[in-house]
Amino acid sequence: LASRLQNVFGKLKGKGKVSEDDVNEAMREVRLALLEADVNFKVVKEFIAKVKEQAVGQEVLKSFTPGMVVIDIVNKELTNLMGGTQSKLAKSNRPPTVIMMVGLQGAGKTTTTGKLAKLLQKQNHKPLLVAGDIYRPAAIKQLQVLGEQIKAPVFTMGDKTSPVEIARSGLQHAKDNGNDYVIIDTAGRLHIDENLMDELKQIREVVKPDEVLLVVDAMTGQDAVNVAESFHSQMELTGVVLTKLDGDTRGGAALSVKAVTGCSIKFAAMGEKIDALEPFHPDRMASRILGMGDVLTLIEKAQAGIDQEKALEMQRKMRTAEFTFDDFLDQMEQVKKLGPLDQLLDMLPGMGKMKGMDNLKVDDKQLGHIEAIIKSMTKDEKVKPEIINASRRKRIANGSGTSIQEVNKLIKQFEEMRKMMKQFSGMMGPKGPKGGMK
Ligand code: GDP
Ligand code: MG
Repeated sequence: LASRLQNVFGKLKGKGKVSEDDVNEAMREVRLALLEADVNFKVVKEFIAKVKEQAVGQEVLKSFTPGMVVIDIVNKELTNLMGGTQSKLAKSNRPPTVIMMVGLQGAGKTTTTGKLAKLLQKQNHKPLLVAGDIYRPAAIKQLQVLGEQIKAPVFTMGDKTSPVEIARSGLQHAKDNGNDYVIIDTAGRLHIDENLMDELKQIREVVKPDEVLLVVDAMTGQDAVNVAESFHSQMELTGVVLTKLDGDTRGGAALSVKAVTGCSIKFAAMGEKIDALEPFHPDRMASRILGMGDVLTLIEKAQAGIDQEKALEMQRKMRTAEFTFDDFLDQMEQVKKLGPLDQLLDMLPGMGKMKGMDNLKVDDKQLGHIEAIIKSMTKDEKVKPEIINASRRKRIANGSGTSIQEVNKLIKQFEEMRKMMKQFSGMMGPKGPKGGMK
Protein backbone atom coordinates (compact mmCIF):
# COMPACT_ATOMS: atom_id res chain seq x y z
CA LEU A 1 0.00 0.00 0.00
CA ALA A 2 2.76 2.38 0.95
CA SER A 3 4.70 2.33 -2.31
CA ARG A 4 1.54 2.47 -4.31
CA LEU A 5 0.32 5.57 -2.52
CA GLN A 6 3.68 7.24 -2.79
CA ASN A 7 3.56 6.82 -6.52
CA VAL A 8 0.20 8.53 -6.61
CA PHE A 9 1.44 11.45 -4.59
CA GLY A 10 4.61 11.72 -6.61
CA LYS A 11 2.48 12.30 -9.66
CA LEU A 12 0.42 15.07 -8.14
CA LYS A 13 1.72 18.25 -9.67
CA GLY A 14 0.50 21.75 -10.27
CA LYS A 15 0.67 25.07 -8.56
CA GLY A 16 -1.10 27.30 -6.10
CA LYS A 17 -4.25 25.37 -5.51
CA VAL A 18 -5.10 21.74 -5.56
CA SER A 19 -7.37 21.38 -8.55
CA GLU A 20 -10.32 19.06 -8.75
CA ASP A 21 -8.66 17.09 -11.53
CA ASP A 22 -5.54 16.62 -9.42
CA VAL A 23 -7.62 15.25 -6.63
CA ASN A 24 -9.85 13.09 -8.78
CA GLU A 25 -6.94 11.41 -10.40
CA ALA A 26 -5.13 10.85 -7.14
CA MET A 27 -8.25 9.57 -5.46
CA ARG A 28 -8.89 7.05 -8.17
CA GLU A 29 -5.52 5.55 -7.40
CA VAL A 30 -5.95 5.80 -3.66
CA ARG A 31 -9.27 4.03 -3.97
CA LEU A 32 -7.68 1.17 -5.88
CA ALA A 33 -4.81 1.00 -3.45
CA LEU A 34 -7.18 0.74 -0.50
CA LEU A 35 -9.32 -1.91 -2.14
CA GLU A 36 -6.22 -3.90 -2.98
CA ALA A 37 -5.19 -3.60 0.64
CA ASP A 38 -8.42 -5.37 1.49
CA VAL A 39 -10.11 -2.41 3.10
CA ASN A 40 -13.86 -2.71 3.37
CA PHE A 41 -15.65 -1.37 0.28
CA LYS A 42 -18.00 0.97 2.13
CA VAL A 43 -15.18 2.32 4.22
CA VAL A 44 -13.20 3.14 1.10
CA LYS A 45 -16.11 4.98 -0.45
CA GLU A 46 -16.71 7.18 2.56
CA PHE A 47 -13.03 7.78 2.97
CA ILE A 48 -12.53 9.00 -0.56
CA ALA A 49 -15.51 11.33 -0.29
CA LYS A 50 -14.12 12.89 2.85
CA VAL A 51 -10.65 13.44 1.43
CA LYS A 52 -12.01 14.93 -1.78
CA GLU A 53 -14.18 17.35 0.08
CA GLN A 54 -11.22 18.65 2.00
CA ALA A 55 -8.57 18.56 -0.67
CA VAL A 56 -10.17 20.51 -3.49
CA GLY A 57 -9.25 24.16 -3.37
CA GLN A 58 -6.70 23.82 -0.63
CA GLU A 59 -4.05 26.49 -0.69
CA VAL A 60 -0.66 25.02 -1.25
CA LEU A 61 2.12 26.33 0.91
CA LYS A 62 4.88 27.67 -1.31
CA SER A 63 7.45 25.04 -0.55
CA PHE A 64 5.06 22.12 -0.80
CA THR A 65 3.41 20.56 -3.78
CA PRO A 66 -0.26 19.68 -4.06
CA GLY A 67 0.95 16.13 -3.54
CA MET A 68 2.14 16.91 -0.08
CA VAL A 69 -1.02 18.75 0.81
CA VAL A 70 -3.11 15.79 -0.27
CA ILE A 71 -0.85 13.34 1.57
CA ASP A 72 -1.41 15.38 4.67
CA ILE A 73 -5.18 15.23 4.29
CA VAL A 74 -5.11 11.52 3.51
CA ASN A 75 -2.92 10.97 6.53
CA LYS A 76 -5.32 12.84 8.80
CA GLU A 77 -8.34 11.00 7.44
CA LEU A 78 -6.67 7.63 7.79
CA THR A 79 -6.00 8.56 11.39
CA ASN A 80 -9.65 9.48 11.92
CA LEU A 81 -10.72 6.27 10.25
CA MET A 82 -8.86 4.31 12.89
CA GLY A 83 -10.41 6.22 15.73
CA GLY A 84 -8.40 9.43 15.76
CA THR A 85 -6.86 9.28 19.18
CA GLN A 86 -5.40 6.46 21.17
CA SER A 87 -7.97 4.43 23.06
CA LYS A 88 -6.80 3.57 26.55
CA LEU A 89 -7.29 0.44 28.57
CA ALA A 90 -10.11 0.68 31.11
CA LYS A 91 -9.24 0.81 34.79
CA SER A 92 -11.62 -0.29 37.48
CA ASN A 93 -12.31 1.97 40.45
CA ARG A 94 -12.40 -1.14 42.53
CA PRO A 95 -9.40 -3.26 41.60
CA PRO A 96 -8.74 -5.71 40.23
CA THR A 97 -9.43 -4.55 36.70
CA VAL A 98 -10.65 -7.59 34.82
CA ILE A 99 -9.65 -8.12 31.21
CA MET A 100 -11.10 -10.96 29.21
CA MET A 101 -9.35 -12.04 26.01
CA VAL A 102 -11.54 -13.57 23.32
CA GLY A 103 -11.04 -14.59 19.72
CA LEU A 104 -10.64 -17.40 17.26
CA GLN A 105 -8.06 -20.12 17.65
CA GLY A 106 -4.58 -19.06 16.62
CA ALA A 107 -5.38 -15.36 16.64
CA GLY A 108 -2.83 -14.77 19.38
CA LYS A 109 -4.93 -14.64 22.58
CA THR A 110 -2.54 -16.54 24.80
CA THR A 111 0.54 -14.79 23.49
CA THR A 112 -1.15 -11.42 23.85
CA THR A 113 -2.22 -12.26 27.40
CA GLY A 114 1.45 -12.61 28.28
CA LYS A 115 2.45 -9.49 26.38
CA LEU A 116 -0.26 -7.40 27.97
CA ALA A 117 0.80 -8.57 31.42
CA LYS A 118 4.34 -7.51 30.64
CA LEU A 119 3.14 -4.10 29.50
CA LEU A 120 1.18 -3.69 32.73
CA GLN A 121 4.16 -4.76 34.80
CA LYS A 122 6.18 -2.02 33.20
CA GLN A 123 3.61 0.40 34.61
CA ASN A 124 4.15 -1.13 38.04
CA HIS A 125 0.99 -3.20 38.05
CA LYS A 126 0.69 -6.73 39.34
CA PRO A 127 -1.29 -8.72 36.81
CA LEU A 128 -2.55 -12.24 37.37
CA LEU A 129 -2.91 -14.48 34.34
CA VAL A 130 -5.80 -16.92 34.34
CA ALA A 131 -5.61 -20.03 32.19
CA GLY A 132 -9.15 -20.37 30.91
CA ASP A 133 -8.48 -22.43 27.79
CA ILE A 134 -8.93 -26.06 28.83
CA TYR A 135 -9.49 -27.42 25.35
CA ARG A 136 -6.44 -26.73 23.31
CA PRO A 137 -3.68 -29.17 24.19
CA ALA A 138 -0.84 -27.47 26.04
CA ALA A 139 -2.68 -24.15 26.22
CA ILE A 140 -2.26 -24.04 29.99
CA LYS A 141 1.40 -24.90 29.73
CA GLN A 142 1.86 -22.19 27.11
CA LEU A 143 0.50 -19.58 29.49
CA GLN A 144 2.61 -20.92 32.36
CA VAL A 145 5.74 -20.61 30.27
CA LEU A 146 4.87 -17.03 29.41
CA GLY A 147 4.16 -16.32 33.07
CA GLU A 148 7.56 -17.69 34.10
CA GLN A 149 9.25 -15.64 31.45
CA ILE A 150 7.88 -12.39 32.82
CA LYS A 151 7.62 -13.53 36.44
CA ALA A 152 3.88 -13.07 36.59
CA PRO A 153 1.66 -15.47 38.53
CA VAL A 154 -0.52 -17.81 36.48
CA PHE A 155 -3.72 -19.19 37.95
CA THR A 156 -4.73 -22.63 36.71
CA MET A 157 -7.09 -25.38 37.81
CA GLY A 158 -6.04 -27.90 35.20
CA ASP A 159 -8.30 -28.93 32.35
CA LYS A 160 -11.00 -30.74 34.31
CA THR A 161 -12.71 -27.70 35.80
CA SER A 162 -15.07 -25.58 33.72
CA PRO A 163 -13.64 -22.33 32.35
CA VAL A 164 -16.44 -20.44 34.09
CA GLU A 165 -15.37 -21.85 37.45
CA ILE A 166 -11.71 -21.17 36.67
CA ALA A 167 -12.49 -17.54 35.85
CA ARG A 168 -14.51 -17.11 39.05
CA SER A 169 -11.80 -18.65 41.23
CA GLY A 170 -9.07 -16.77 39.38
CA LEU A 171 -10.75 -13.47 40.15
CA GLN A 172 -11.05 -14.42 43.82
CA HIS A 173 -7.39 -15.44 43.83
CA ALA A 174 -6.41 -12.02 42.51
CA LYS A 175 -8.43 -10.27 45.20
CA ASP A 176 -6.82 -12.41 47.88
CA ASN A 177 -3.32 -11.84 46.58
CA GLY A 178 -3.38 -8.15 45.77
CA ASN A 179 -3.24 -8.42 41.98
CA ASP A 180 -4.61 -5.23 40.50
CA TYR A 181 -5.20 -6.70 37.04
CA VAL A 182 -6.60 -10.05 36.01
CA ILE A 183 -6.19 -11.17 32.44
CA ILE A 184 -8.30 -14.16 31.50
CA ASP A 185 -7.13 -16.22 28.56
CA THR A 186 -10.03 -18.09 26.94
CA ALA A 187 -10.46 -20.82 24.38
CA GLY A 188 -10.98 -20.15 20.73
CA ARG A 189 -12.46 -22.17 17.92
CA LEU A 190 -11.60 -22.27 14.28
CA HIS A 191 -14.94 -20.65 13.55
CA ILE A 192 -17.41 -18.78 15.63
CA ASP A 193 -19.94 -21.22 17.04
CA GLU A 194 -22.66 -21.17 19.64
CA ASN A 195 -20.87 -23.29 22.21
CA LEU A 196 -17.95 -20.93 22.21
CA MET A 197 -20.14 -17.87 22.51
CA ASP A 198 -22.21 -19.42 25.30
CA GLU A 199 -19.15 -20.22 27.32
CA LEU A 200 -17.68 -16.77 26.82
CA LYS A 201 -20.97 -15.16 27.80
CA GLN A 202 -21.10 -17.22 30.97
CA ILE A 203 -17.60 -16.20 31.91
CA ARG A 204 -18.54 -12.61 31.28
CA GLU A 205 -21.59 -12.91 33.54
CA VAL A 206 -19.46 -14.24 36.35
CA VAL A 207 -16.41 -11.96 36.25
CA LYS A 208 -18.05 -8.78 34.91
CA PRO A 209 -14.95 -7.73 32.98
CA ASP A 210 -13.93 -4.09 32.57
CA GLU A 211 -12.53 -4.99 29.18
CA VAL A 212 -13.51 -7.65 26.69
CA LEU A 213 -10.71 -7.55 24.16
CA LEU A 214 -11.09 -9.33 20.88
CA VAL A 215 -7.82 -10.60 19.50
CA VAL A 216 -7.74 -10.75 15.71
CA ASP A 217 -5.06 -11.70 13.23
CA ALA A 218 -4.36 -8.68 11.03
CA MET A 219 -3.01 -10.90 8.27
CA THR A 220 -6.50 -12.23 7.62
CA GLY A 221 -7.60 -8.81 6.39
CA GLN A 222 -11.31 -8.55 5.72
CA ASP A 223 -11.93 -11.81 7.59
CA ALA A 224 -10.60 -10.23 10.73
CA VAL A 225 -13.15 -7.47 10.31
CA ASN A 226 -15.99 -9.96 9.81
CA VAL A 227 -14.92 -11.85 12.91
CA ALA A 228 -14.88 -8.60 14.83
CA GLU A 229 -18.38 -7.78 13.65
CA SER A 230 -19.81 -11.13 14.74
CA PHE A 231 -18.07 -11.10 18.10
CA HIS A 232 -19.13 -7.56 18.76
CA SER A 233 -22.78 -8.28 18.02
CA GLN A 234 -22.76 -11.07 20.58
CA MET A 235 -20.26 -10.04 23.19
CA GLU A 236 -20.23 -6.25 23.28
CA LEU A 237 -16.51 -5.94 22.95
CA THR A 238 -14.72 -3.04 24.56
CA GLY A 239 -11.75 -3.15 22.25
CA VAL A 240 -9.74 -5.00 19.66
CA VAL A 241 -6.15 -6.21 19.67
CA LEU A 242 -4.63 -6.55 16.23
CA THR A 243 -1.92 -9.18 16.13
CA LYS A 244 0.66 -10.18 13.53
CA LEU A 245 0.96 -6.68 12.16
CA ASP A 246 4.57 -7.60 11.48
CA GLY A 247 3.34 -9.89 8.73
CA ASP A 248 0.57 -7.62 7.51
CA THR A 249 1.72 -5.65 4.51
CA ARG A 250 -1.67 -4.40 3.48
CA GLY A 251 -3.17 -2.77 6.53
CA GLY A 252 -6.74 -3.60 5.50
CA ALA A 253 -7.90 -4.89 8.88
CA ALA A 254 -6.37 -2.01 10.78
CA LEU A 255 -8.15 0.44 8.53
CA SER A 256 -11.59 -1.18 8.58
CA VAL A 257 -12.14 -2.54 12.09
CA LYS A 258 -13.10 0.69 13.78
CA ALA A 259 -15.16 1.99 10.88
CA VAL A 260 -17.11 -1.24 10.48
CA THR A 261 -17.63 -2.26 14.10
CA GLY A 262 -17.32 1.02 15.96
CA CYS A 263 -14.92 -0.80 18.23
CA SER A 264 -11.53 0.81 18.89
CA ILE A 265 -8.25 -0.94 18.35
CA LYS A 266 -6.50 -0.71 21.69
CA PHE A 267 -3.31 -2.66 21.10
CA ALA A 268 -1.15 -3.75 18.24
CA ALA A 269 1.12 -6.80 18.30
CA MET A 270 4.02 -6.85 15.90
CA GLY A 271 5.90 -10.02 16.60
CA GLU A 272 6.17 -13.21 18.58
CA LYS A 273 8.41 -11.80 21.28
CA ILE A 274 6.97 -10.97 24.66
CA ASP A 275 7.49 -7.24 24.36
CA ALA A 276 6.09 -6.96 20.85
CA LEU A 277 2.88 -5.31 21.98
CA GLU A 278 2.14 -1.60 21.92
CA PRO A 279 -0.83 0.63 22.59
CA PHE A 280 -2.37 1.32 19.22
CA HIS A 281 -1.83 4.85 17.94
CA PRO A 282 -4.05 5.64 14.94
CA ASP A 283 -1.76 8.45 13.79
CA ARG A 284 1.34 6.27 13.81
CA MET A 285 -0.47 3.49 12.04
CA ALA A 286 -1.66 5.94 9.38
CA SER A 287 1.92 7.06 8.82
CA ARG A 288 3.07 3.48 8.67
CA ILE A 289 0.46 2.64 6.12
CA LEU A 290 1.44 5.62 4.04
CA GLY A 291 5.03 4.51 4.36
CA MET A 292 6.08 7.85 5.63
CA GLY A 293 7.17 9.58 8.74
CA ASP A 294 5.24 12.20 10.55
CA VAL A 295 4.61 14.53 7.64
CA LEU A 296 2.18 16.63 9.57
CA THR A 297 4.69 17.51 12.24
CA LEU A 298 7.25 18.24 9.59
CA ILE A 299 4.93 20.60 7.80
CA GLU A 300 4.15 22.39 11.03
CA LYS A 301 7.80 22.71 11.86
CA ALA A 302 8.61 23.86 8.41
CA GLN A 303 5.91 26.48 8.53
CA ALA A 304 7.35 27.77 11.76
CA GLY A 305 11.02 27.54 11.00
CA ILE A 306 11.91 27.63 7.35
CA ASP A 307 12.17 30.74 5.32
CA GLN A 308 9.71 29.97 2.54
CA GLU A 309 11.41 31.87 -0.25
CA LYS A 310 14.74 30.43 0.62
CA ALA A 311 13.36 26.92 0.71
CA LEU A 312 11.88 27.36 -2.71
CA GLU A 313 15.13 28.66 -4.12
CA MET A 314 16.92 25.76 -2.50
CA GLN A 315 14.60 23.31 -4.13
CA ARG A 316 15.17 24.82 -7.51
CA LYS A 317 18.90 24.51 -7.00
CA MET A 318 18.68 20.94 -5.88
CA ARG A 319 16.71 20.00 -8.92
CA THR A 320 19.10 21.62 -11.29
CA ALA A 321 22.14 20.33 -9.41
CA GLU A 322 23.33 23.87 -8.84
CA PHE A 323 23.45 23.01 -5.21
CA THR A 324 26.77 24.23 -3.79
CA PHE A 325 28.62 24.10 -0.53
CA ASP A 326 27.30 27.54 0.34
CA ASP A 327 23.78 26.21 -0.08
CA PHE A 328 24.74 23.22 1.94
CA LEU A 329 25.76 25.47 4.79
CA ASP A 330 22.55 27.44 4.44
CA GLN A 331 20.60 24.23 4.49
CA MET A 332 22.40 23.05 7.59
CA GLU A 333 21.47 26.26 9.34
CA GLN A 334 17.85 25.89 8.35
CA VAL A 335 17.87 22.34 9.53
CA LYS A 336 19.37 23.43 12.81
CA LYS A 337 16.40 25.70 13.36
CA LEU A 338 14.11 22.73 12.95
CA GLY A 339 15.83 20.44 15.37
CA PRO A 340 18.17 17.49 15.26
CA LEU A 341 18.73 16.12 11.79
CA ASP A 342 18.04 12.62 13.00
CA GLN A 343 14.52 13.52 13.99
CA LEU A 344 14.00 15.48 10.86
CA LEU A 345 14.92 12.55 8.67
CA ASP A 346 12.43 10.47 10.60
CA MET A 347 9.72 12.86 9.63
CA LEU A 348 10.40 12.79 5.93
CA PRO A 349 8.59 10.22 3.84
CA GLY A 350 10.87 7.30 3.14
CA MET A 351 13.78 8.96 4.89
CA GLY A 352 13.56 7.03 8.13
CA LYS A 353 15.94 4.47 6.74
CA MET A 354 18.56 7.12 6.11
CA LYS A 355 18.84 7.68 9.80
CA GLY A 356 21.28 4.89 10.31
CA MET A 357 23.62 6.22 7.69
CA ASP A 358 26.64 7.57 9.43
CA ASN A 359 27.48 10.04 6.73
CA LEU A 360 24.28 11.94 7.20
CA LYS A 361 24.59 12.45 10.91
CA VAL A 362 25.27 15.98 11.96
CA ASP A 363 25.13 17.44 15.42
CA ASP A 364 25.38 21.04 16.47
CA LYS A 365 29.02 20.76 17.44
CA GLN A 366 29.93 19.42 14.03
CA LEU A 367 28.09 22.25 12.43
CA GLY A 368 30.78 24.65 13.64
CA HIS A 369 33.46 22.55 11.97
CA ILE A 370 31.46 22.27 8.80
CA GLU A 371 31.15 25.99 8.67
CA ALA A 372 34.91 26.42 9.11
CA ILE A 373 35.69 23.90 6.40
CA ILE A 374 33.32 25.41 3.89
CA LYS A 375 34.65 28.89 4.59
CA SER A 376 38.15 27.66 3.81
CA MET A 377 37.14 26.59 0.34
CA THR A 378 37.65 28.71 -2.73
CA LYS A 379 34.71 29.85 -4.78
CA ASP A 380 35.39 27.19 -7.40
CA GLU A 381 35.67 24.45 -4.85
CA LYS A 382 32.33 25.35 -3.34
CA VAL A 383 30.59 25.02 -6.66
CA LYS A 384 32.52 22.08 -8.05
CA PRO A 385 33.50 19.78 -5.22
CA GLU A 386 34.85 17.25 -7.68
CA ILE A 387 37.95 19.42 -8.18
CA ILE A 388 38.92 19.11 -4.52
CA ASN A 389 41.90 16.79 -4.79
CA ALA A 390 44.26 15.56 -2.08
CA SER A 391 46.40 18.68 -1.87
CA ARG A 392 43.37 20.93 -1.80
CA ARG A 393 41.91 18.79 0.98
CA LYS A 394 45.06 19.26 2.98
CA ARG A 395 44.96 23.00 2.48
CA ILE A 396 41.31 23.17 3.51
CA ALA A 397 41.96 21.10 6.61
CA ASN A 398 44.83 23.37 7.65
CA GLY A 399 42.90 26.50 6.87
CA SER A 400 39.91 25.46 8.90
CA GLY A 401 41.81 23.95 11.78
CA THR A 402 40.24 20.56 11.20
CA SER A 403 41.57 17.26 9.91
CA ILE A 404 41.70 15.77 6.43
CA GLN A 405 39.36 13.07 7.66
CA GLU A 406 36.80 15.66 8.57
CA VAL A 407 37.14 17.35 5.21
CA ASN A 408 36.75 14.00 3.47
CA LYS A 409 33.72 13.21 5.51
CA LEU A 410 32.07 16.50 4.74
CA ILE A 411 32.64 16.16 1.01
CA LYS A 412 31.15 12.71 1.11
CA GLN A 413 28.23 14.01 3.13
CA PHE A 414 27.68 16.78 0.67
CA GLU A 415 27.65 14.41 -2.25
CA GLU A 416 25.24 12.10 -0.55
CA MET A 417 23.00 14.95 0.34
CA ARG A 418 23.06 16.22 -3.19
CA LYS A 419 22.03 12.79 -4.38
CA MET A 420 19.35 12.47 -1.77
CA MET A 421 17.96 15.90 -2.45
CA LYS A 422 17.74 15.19 -6.11
CA GLN A 423 15.66 12.14 -5.35
CA PHE A 424 13.59 13.89 -2.78
CA SER A 425 12.80 16.82 -5.03
CA GLY A 426 10.85 14.34 -7.11
CA MET A 427 8.25 14.51 -4.40
CA MET A 428 8.77 18.03 -3.21
CA GLY A 429 9.23 20.06 -6.33
CA PRO A 430 6.65 20.80 -9.00
CA LYS A 431 9.00 19.87 -11.81
CA GLY A 432 11.18 17.30 -10.17
CA PRO A 433 11.89 13.93 -11.69
CA LYS A 434 9.16 11.40 -11.10
CA GLY A 435 9.00 9.09 -8.09
CA GLY A 436 12.58 9.09 -6.93
CA MET A 437 11.46 7.51 -3.68
CA LYS A 438 11.05 3.80 -3.35
P1 GDP B 1 -4.44 -18.31 20.50
O1 GDP B 1 -4.89 -19.61 19.95
O2 GDP B 1 -5.39 -17.21 20.12
O3 GDP B 1 -4.19 -18.35 21.96
O4 GDP B 1 -3.09 -17.96 19.77
P2 GDP B 1 -1.58 -18.04 20.32
O5 GDP B 1 -1.35 -16.97 21.33
O6 GDP B 1 -1.29 -19.43 20.73
O7 GDP B 1 -0.78 -17.64 19.02
C1 GDP B 1 -0.81 -18.40 17.83
C2 GDP B 1 0.49 -18.21 17.06
O8 GDP B 1 0.60 -16.88 16.60
C3 GDP B 1 1.71 -18.46 17.93
O9 GDP B 1 2.64 -19.18 17.17
C4 GDP B 1 2.24 -17.07 18.22
O10 GDP B 1 3.62 -17.05 18.44
C5 GDP B 1 1.84 -16.34 16.98
N1 GDP B 1 1.68 -14.89 17.21
C6 GDP B 1 0.90 -14.27 18.12
N2 GDP B 1 0.99 -12.92 18.01
C7 GDP B 1 1.85 -12.69 17.00
C8 GDP B 1 2.35 -11.48 16.38
O11 GDP B 1 2.05 -10.35 16.73
N3 GDP B 1 3.23 -11.66 15.35
C9 GDP B 1 3.60 -12.89 14.92
N4 GDP B 1 4.44 -12.95 13.90
N5 GDP B 1 3.15 -14.02 15.46
C10 GDP B 1 2.28 -13.94 16.49
MG1 MG C 1 -4.51 -19.84 23.30
